[in-house]
Amino acid sequence: ATPETAPLFPALHTPPVPPKPALRFGDRTLEYGEVARLAGALARELPHGRRVAVWATPSLETGVAVVAALLAGVAAVPLNPKAGARELAHILADSDPALVLAAPGESLPEELAGLARRDVATDPGAVPGAVALPAEPGPEAPALIVYTSGTTGPPKGVVLPRRALTSTLDALEDAWQWTAEDTLVHGLPLFHVHGLILGVLGPLRRGGSLVHLVRFSTDGVRRALEDGATLMFGVPTMYHRIAEEAAGDPALAAALAKARLLVSGSAALPVHDQERIAAATGRRVVERYGMSETLMNTSVRADGEPRPGTVGVPLAGVALRLVEDDGSEIAEWDGETVGEIQVRGPNLFTEYLNRPDATAEAFDGDWFRTGDMAVREPDGYVRIVGRRATDLIKSGGYKIGAGEIENALLDFPGVREAAVTGEPDPDLGERVVAWLVTDGGPVDEQAVADHVARQLAPHKRPRVVRYLDALPRNDMGKIMKRALHG
Ligand code: ATP
Ligand code: MG
Repeated sequence: ATPETAPLFPALHTPPVPPKPALRFGDRTLEYGEVARLAGALARELPHGRRVAVWATPSLETGVAVVAALLAGVAAVPLNPKAGARELAHILADSDPALVLAAPGESLPEELAGLARRDVATDPGAVPGAVALPAEPGPEAPALIVYTSGTTGPPKGVVLPRRALTSTLDALEDAWQWTAEDTLVHGLPLFHVHGLILGVLGPLRRGGSLVHLVRFSTDGVRRALEDGATLMFGVPTMYHRIAEEAAGDPALAAALAKARLLVSGSAALPVHDQERIAAATGRRVVERYGMSETLMNTSVRADGEPRPGTVGVPLAGVALRLVEDDGSEIAEWDGETVGEIQVRGPNLFTEYLNRPDATAEAFDGDWFRTGDMAVREPDGYVRIVGRRATDLIKSGGYKIGAGEIENALLDFPGVREAAVTGEPDPDLGERVVAWLVTDGGPVDEQAVADHVARQLAPHKRPRVVRYLDALPRNDMGKIMKRALHG
């Protein structure tokens, strides 16, 4: 086979001998040969030229359904089982699937009632004998339609071709020295890039194993690592839980200490949590940066220097530049000049579904405008300061990133969670507002502001402090800043 038509998952074509676990969810496991038979048989029944929706619960069924669609060359649309009625209706109308794949016995909401349903079998014996896997389509064929997290607006359907999947997963093989020997543990949802593409398709492409916790817990992480898992993926809220518990839980700290690699992504990992995990375990969490539209762009490499507050360096095949407001590229990597991250490479999506205007707006030639703002350190490490839309505060002639102020706030005693936004100010243009979740009532606001000014710079001091019981977060644990100013 030429590289273009090479299978996405070589280990499904030649299952390892002796048999080896491919997917484990809770206490249910399928070996490679079983995944090949079940997904191969299902692939033959899927409607060519149409899309299929997948009711993406954290389950073997979701794994088998998505693999079947990929084998068949039928684009799959993973649905968030916790999505609200409006969001679900929007996604169904937008993506127009021919049918929905779901676990047997799973009750589906009314919005899906008009759609044909196909239950996904996952009993090891359900498909006896060998199944010939279909020939897979070319690199530009749409593989998945993933909806963005909706952090900054209504979710957009991102059309991902097969080459985006293979190029990103193979770049991560290189960056993380990810092999068939690795067992990955995580408890991520399966309707976004992180949990599904990296977290399920990643181990399958490598011929390694996945242990999915179904429901994230630090105990589950500990047990999986004690049982030999080598890699862990998580979002910052999960590492926050680990940071809170590891110091007082020697077994958890010891299990984490012997993992090969701990990886965080989907949002910025607070430096404070990174430091606490390092203190308890001696291990640094590696950060990577990506998005639905581009899959993975940068990472701290397994053989590189972990640097808290940074997302590492561009992955193999990914071109990355920082661009000023006037469209000019920032030539000098000085660690200070803030620009928008733009990326180019085989990891990019092809279009937003049914949104030609949004697609056109998102590109400058073949460079994708991420909407994320960053600085580049002299050796090439990328430090994200936040999103252009919500995290960039223009105050007193300065461009201030919310991220570093949030990191400074989290360092202040009694501050448990922090989000920083800008709001209109007659003198400054915008003023810095700190939204805090604290351990016990209000903090000394003057002292907090002085702390930020001392750590960063005087113009970055919060002018207003507001208190909340919890920050508004979406299902990936991302802070929904547009909900803050109501
Ligand atoms: P929407 O596009 O609908 O507003 P979203 O951008 O949150 O939602 P995703 O594509 O799931 O949807 O998330 C990508 C975004 O997540 C990136 O653009 C970036 O802002 C953020 N992100 C991902 N990884 C990191 C990281 N390591 N550090 C900081 N931010 C990150
Ligand atoms: Mg986005």
